[in-house]
Amino acid sequence: MEIKTDVLVIGAGPAGSIAAREASKNGAKTLIIEKKSEIGAPKRCAEGIIKSTLDELDIKPDKRWIARQIDGIEIVAPNNKTVIFDKNNFDLPDTGYVLERKVFDKHLTMDAIRNGAKVMIKTQADAINRVNGGFLVTAKRLHDEIRILTKIIIAADGPQSLIARKAGLKTSTSLEDMASCVQYEMANVDMENMNHVKIHIGTVCPGGYIWIFPKGEDIANVGLGILKSHTDKTAKYFLDTFLKNSSDVSGAQVVEMNAGGDPIGGLLDERYSDNIMVVGDAAGFVDPLTGDGIRTAMLSGKYAGKVAAKAIAMGNYSKSVLKEYYDLTEEEIGKDFHKFNKIKEFLLTLDDNSLNNIVEEISKSDLTNVNVAKLLKIIIKSSPKSIFKLGKLI
Ligand SMILES: Cc1cc2nc3c(=O)[nH]c(=O)nc-3n(C[C@H](O)[C@H](O)[C@H](O)COP(=O)(O)OP(=O)(O)OC[C@H]3O[C@@H](n4cnc5c(N)ncnc54)[C@H](O)[C@@H]3O)c2cc1C
Repeated sequence: MEIKTDVLVIGAGPAGSIAAREASKNGAKTLIIEKKSEIGAPKRCAEGIIKSTLDELDIKPDKRWIARQIDGIEIVAPNNKTVIFDKNNFDLPDTGYVLERKVFDKHLTMDAIRNGAKVMIKTQADAINRVNGGFLVTAKRLHDEIRILTKIIIAADGPQSLIARKAGLKTSTSLEDMASCVQYEMANVDMENMNHVKIHIGTVCPGGYIWIFPKGEDIANVGLGILKSHTDKTAKYFLDTFLKNSSDVSGAQVVEMNAGGDPIGGLLDERYSDNIMVVGDAAGFVDPLTGDGIRTAMLSGKYAGKVAAKAIAMGNYSKSVLKEYYDLTEEEIGKDFHKFNKIKEFLLTLDDNSLNNIVEEISKSDLTNVNVAKLLKIIIKSSPKSIFKLGKLI
């Protein structure tokens, strides 16, 4: 079978579906292919987002994929001192949702379909070759081979994008920038406040943090991400150790296990070229500090989809036109990521004692109207030498 399209989106995660929605909404003939038989499953995600993300991406909240509303964050220091950011002590700029990604991801793809995109599941892009005016992509669909001629590829195929690499872009992430994550979805979780997310920091989780993200009255995603450069033990070892010691999950049982890499090194420079743009995890759109990537994957998809449609309308798919995608994402996301990377690098140098001191200092501070700059000042107060690393970021 041979198919011709203007824009081929490879991968129907949040980045790919939003890219397809925007490209087709703006007039480009768009096809998304997804290798899995069910979009969104299995999830590799703790499923947390900031509420305003939905407005920002023009997505109407729907209770079919909002598992839980979140109104606070608890940070637990290595010595168990806990600081709580919620509406009682903190002018929260925003609250959050824990999603049901299996439903949310499908909803995004359905939205792309309603805006004119075509979708093929169980279709895996294998080979890509440059041809006059674009790419010829060879994909496998069950036992059939499909040839897709496209003017533009949007590579949305997740971390370590093979598609971008096959197009000659350098998209591999070094081991020290790839958090190794493991997570259990658990039932019978018993946290005091199931409307808060809980984060444990310190040597309980080298190079990362442990999260408990509630999805229901007694259901939660409990997981962690570690950096291999900080330990020779596995992520699963640290998660299982935590489960043995945490009263929140002592009676809980696992109903799903997820594992995967989270690229936290920041945006890749090589995220566009002639006839191709790379979006989402494939291009490093993951917050280097928190590891969150849903919002920024979707934002990158939005910009890539719009720029693709514009290029199609102009009849020019060269790198000089697609550079607009690079510029928009650099301005909107890259600058923040640069700052977050610096904060992360500093936090990674701290031992448990220093983290205890920071949490102690935060717990003594007035948190009303606190923002990132004020938090950085509190950190500098508890660890004055950090001024050299963090001072410029305030
Ligand atoms: C354990 C863990 C917890 C996380 N928790 C959070 C969180 O709480 N909040 C948050 O914001 N982020 C979180 N993230 C990050 C978030 O999951 C990702 O940033 C987000 O899913 C990226 O979306 P994406 O569309 O770029 O990629 P993906 O969601 O990975 O989608 C890529 C899609 O491409 C498909 N694909 C790949 N290759 C091909 C091919 N050759 N042909 C066709 N299809 C292909 C895949 O099957 C997949 O469906 C977490 C990550 C991990 C690992």
